This record gives sequence, structure tokens and C-alpha cells, in this order.
Amino acid sequence: MLRRVTFIAGDGIGPEVAWAARRCLDATGLAFHWDERLAGEGAIKKFNTPLPEETLQSVRDNRLAIKGPVTTPIGTGFRSVNVALRKQLNLFACVRPCRTYAGVRSPFQNVDLIIVRENTEDLYAGIEFASGDAGTKELITIFRERTKQPIESDAAISIKPISKTASERIIRFAFEYALSHHRKKVTAIHKANIMKFTDGLFMETARRIGKEYEGRLICEDRLVDAACMQLVLRPHDFDVLVLPNLYGDILSDLCAGLIGGLGVAPGANIGDGVALFEAVHGSAPKYTGLNKVNPTAMILSGVMLLHHIGEHEAAERLDAAVQAVLREGKDVTYDLKPERTDPTAVGTKEMTEAIVARMKTVKVRV
Ligand code: NAD
Repeated sequence: MLRRVTFIAGDGIGPEVAWAARRCLDATGLAFHWDERLAGEGAIKKFNTPLPEETLQSVRDNRLAIKGPVTTPIGTGFRSVNVALRKQLNLFACVRPCRTYAGVRSPFQNVDLIIVRENTEDLYAGIEFASGDAGTKELITIFRERTKQPIESDAAISIKPISKTASERIIRFAFEYALSHHRKKVTAIHKANIMKFTDGLFMETARRIGKEYEGRLICEDRLVDAACMQLVLRPHDFDVLVLPNLYGDILSDLCAGLIGGLGVAPGANIGDGVALFEAVHGSAPKYTGLNKVNPTAMILSGVMLLHHIGEHEAAERLDAAVQAVLREGKDVTYDLKPERTDPTAVGTKEMTEAIVARMKTVKVRV
């Protein structure tokens, strides 16, 4: 069966790591048709927009996409392509597994967490009003009157929408994901003691939906600041975490740190019938074209894609090959060596080829 997948190479190191994932997926022996589309800097040059409609339509049609990281230009009129993609395709759930691998130096062993991040609203939706604009001043006047709170007249304003609809949707998704992946506990993260209406709604929704899962899953919630401290002290106390968008963004990097860094942290953005797979890391522009960075996070995002389409044997085989190469620590990139200047470090392509070679010999049980 031929599977059509939208392939977005991205910016910076994006093309190198996205091609690495594509090479590994092709090497499984499954038949993929890669529908190459632009987003980011390449799209701005060709279409004068970082996210052309034809790229969005391709993902809608194929319902499956893999994407390298895209640079968000600072100080231009363009907003984040990543935020726009998630919002326009309604990819409401971001799933980021954080698992330690033998051979990857990390502060802890046997960490196995899943981050489930809401992807469409919260401060991260980017609804902002610039300092000094007439419209912003108008809003400040209204907010001062309504809230009796002092707000400086030169303040910039960000809006934090948290809806019952989106909270229910992501929390239910997290509980169902936990059940189907044989997990034991879901922890909802919030700051409901301060943001009583927004985070309060998220917390109450988690508690209410959690009751439906009593006896099948443990449901708990934590304040985000306390959760950060507990994660870096006792990550094994956590299992599945469900978070609003901004906390999800920040705790994703924190948890990537727990398992040895961004080079090994994969991810998926999932909506109704559409899924887009990408690493947690960004486009690391200073490493562009150097054949230097670690392809593991993107390749593991490919493993997630394989599981998503039901190709569990191929997924386990690729995962086992990645684990073998990491464990051996020979054909790995600079960031996985004991010293970053280790002259035996290999490039992105060479590590990818080592993983492809191992796929032929690893044994898996599905
Ligand atoms: P980044 O993740 O690109 O890089 C931070 C540092 O992490 C790098 O300098 C590098 O040392 C390390 N790193 C990242 N990926 C690595 C890899 N595969 N192998 C080895 N080391 C790796 O974060 P940033 O510098 O904050 O962001 C750069 C750009 O990427 C920004 O424009 C940002 O908006 C964008 N970004 C895009 C996405 C996405 O497309 N999903 C996600 C995050 C950031």
C-alpha cells in the first residue's frame, strides 16, 4: 500500500534531519509517496508567505505529514509557522514522549514520560497588542475600568484564552492516550491559584473528566512551579502530563533536558484525522548545512508516524535500530559523545546510515 505523506523540509538544520527521517522510513521497506511542500524561509521567497495554502491543502489531503523545524523570523511581520500550522489544521494535541536511552548521557535513568500539550489556545496563540498602538490604549482603558487594576498606558498586551471546549478535548485525549498506551497516571498542570478563571477552568475540567476514569487511571493535578521542581528531583513520579499550551512548550524542553537534550526528543501534532510529526527542537541555524546535528529526534518522530499508521513492526524495528546505535555510541553525532570536541563523532548522514544498517539486523517482537 502506497502512503502519501506531506514532506516539509523546513529551515536551518531542518532539511538535514527531515531527510534523515525520510531515509529511515523508506528503509523500512514500506512504500511512501513524499509530497514535498514548502514552509518557512523557502516559502517566503517563493510565495511571499511562510505558510502557503498549497502546503496546508497537501496536509489536509494526505492527513499525514513530517516536518523539519522552521525558523520564526524575529522582527518581521511573519508570525510562527508552527503556531499557524497547528491552529489552521486544528492539530490540537501535541504528544511528546520523553524516554531515556542507554548510551545517552542524562541526569536520570529510566525516565519514561509523555507530555500532552494543548496546541491551539493560551498565551501561545499569539493574540497580542503592541505597546503604544491606539487599539492597545483603547483596550487598556477598558481593562482598567472593568478590572480596577492598574495597567501602565505603554503596556503591550497578550490575551490568554482557555476554553472549556479545548480543555475538555485535550484532557480527554490525554486520558484516552494513557489508557491505550497502558499508562497508569495523568497529571494536569496549571497555575489555578493565580489564574483562577483560565487555569482554574483547565484544572476543574481535568478533575471532572478524571472522575470518569477512576479505577482505570490515577488522576492528579499540580501547580506548574511545583511540577517543575518535582520533575527535576523525581521525574519517575510522573507518567502522562497534560498541560495548556505555554506550560507545555516550556516543560517539553525541561523534560528533554531530563533525557539528555533536544537531540533525542520527538513529537507529534495530532488533530481529527490529521497528524504532523516533528522533533521538539528548532532549526538551530548556526549548524545549517554542516552535516553535524543529531538526527535522532526526527527519526524517532518517524517511529511515532509508523505507530500512528499501524505499522508497529516497522516502528519497533526502527526504534530498536536507533537504540542499538545510541547504546554502542560509536556512529553518533558530537552531542552524544562524552566530549563535544570528540574527533570520532560522525555527521548527521553517517549516523542515519548506521541506523539504516542496523535495521537489517535488529530483532523485534511485536
Ligand atoms: P533550537 O532547538 O533550534 O536550538 C537550540 C540549541 O539546541 C542549538 O543551538 C543546539 O545546540 C541544540 N540542538 C537543537 N537541535 C539539535 C540537534 N538535532 N542536534 C544537536 N543539537 C541540537 O532552538 P532555538 O535556537 O531557540 O530556535 C531556533 C529557531 O527554531 C527559532 O527561529 C525558533 O523559532 C525555531 N523553532 C522551531 C521549532 C519547530 O519548527 N517546531 C521548534 C522550536 C524552535
